[in-house]
Amino acid sequence: MKPTSSPKTYRVKSFGCQMNVYDGERMAEMLGEQGILPAPEGEEADLVVLNTCHIREKAAEKVYSDIGRLTKAGRKVGKEPLIAVAGCVAQAEGEEIMKRSPAVSMVVGPQAYHRLPEMLGRAVKGERSTDTDMPAIAKFAALPERRRTNPASFLTVQEGCDKFCTYCVVPYTRGAEISRPYSDLVTEAKKLVDAGAKEITLLGQNVSAWSGEDERGHKVGLAGLIRDLARIDGLARIRYTTSHPADMDDDLIAAHGEIEKLMPFLHLPVQAGSDRVLRAMNRSHTAESYLRLLERFRTARPDLALSGDFIVGFPGETDAEFEETLALVGEVKYAQAFSFKYSPRPGTPAATMDGQVAKEVMDERLQRLQTALNRDQLAFNEASLGRTCEVLVERNGKLAGQWLGKSPWLQSVWFEGDAVIGDLVRAELVEAGPNSLAGKLRETVTA
Ligand code: SAM
Ligand code: SF4
Repeated sequence: MKPTSSPKTYRVKSFGCQMNVYDGERMAEMLGEQGILPAPEGEEADLVVLNTCHIREKAAEKVYSDIGRLTKAGRKVGKEPLIAVAGCVAQAEGEEIMKRSPAVSMVVGPQAYHRLPEMLGRAVKGERSTDTDMPAIAKFAALPERRRTNPASFLTVQEGCDKFCTYCVVPYTRGAEISRPYSDLVTEAKKLVDAGAKEITLLGQNVSAWSGEDERGHKVGLAGLIRDLARIDGLARIRYTTSHPADMDDDLIAAHGEIEKLMPFLHLPVQAGSDRVLRAMNRSHTAESYLRLLERFRTARPDLALSGDFIVGFPGETDAEFEETLALVGEVKYAQAFSFKYSPRPGTPAATMDGQVAKEVMDERLQRLQTALNRDQLAFNEASLGRTCEVLVERNGKLAGQWLGKSPWLQSVWFEGDAVIGDLVRAELVEAGPNSLAGKLRETVTA
């Protein structure tokens, strides 16, 4: 590669999960510390970070087409951007990307992105580099302090996964489960609140597996961490995602009934309703144990909104087994959910299992499942009508004078009136659609 001038502007494009959004923000902060500015909307950036996701198919192809598009756009304005590929595709396919895409000068895995500034120094000299090391948690200590944030912010507390669900690539791309230290998290949460965060969502591939030691040396789990974060003045809301049914303990269930700042929302993926399929997936729960667990949460917090993840067409899934998924959905009545067609991931056990399900069968199952999930989501939203609840204003709405925020149950609520981003207002929910509700502004709780 030819040496080039130091980049003046950057753009970080994050795909996939919220943990990638968090990583993307941290990379942006790091580039900011180097004096590089976010590229103005509509302008090509000198440096582009593609922060990729590998969870389902076509992820890698998407990266290559993005690279192609960026190089072409760069040529038009007379300067090709420096391109860094980060995230899970970088981790899984870094060498291949370097071979296939000469336009890429940096490939950096999710545990190594704190070294991006050094890599950038080399890229400017015309050297290409790859870093897909997995040093345990080293990156967090090397990242700059939090200075900017959104009203609703993310905080990664745990990374990696030891669960090895047979369909999933995460244990290979994100490595083993590790918890960030308690004191680092309390410090980062306070910084986020000082920078304007009113809500913090604690993130982890298995967030409920987080454990640490508090300042008195006592062992604490996620519930203990939430309890202590709830004492931070100015922090109004706490959420966490994603949990695994195997790690949900009594303390966390009780926390939902006791901690006012912990929002009444639980994302607890089940994946399927058939016990045979769940066993083949290496999920450690059955449909029944999952339903019993939800009951305990609902007893602690009766207005809890539930969310889940589903995979249809796992190898060997029969029509009757798929019906069991629909039956489970009918029983739980999710407030929202994510559903996917099974996608074979290279290197995972399920990718070579017998009984791979035909695409048309998966399409049909996904459509039926989504019809059921959408029906329940609309019903949940309609059941909220007439409630007056707090809404955290996160952005402008579609039309001038409109604001968009989230209810405690993570519903999108839009309203008109006197507000600013970051306000916590009380709004009456007056109209319900499948994906959002309209509210009437009643009062501002904090400005
Ligand atoms: N750790 C979380 C859990 O166990 O639920 C979520 C991890 S993953 C980033 C998010 C979701 O992607 C999973 O819950 C699953 O539904 C889906 N997923 C993972 N691997 C998949 C695959 N190979 N094909 C289709 N969906 C997949
Ligand atoms: Fe993937 Fe299973 Fe780990 Fe979730 S628990 S990240 S689905 S291996």
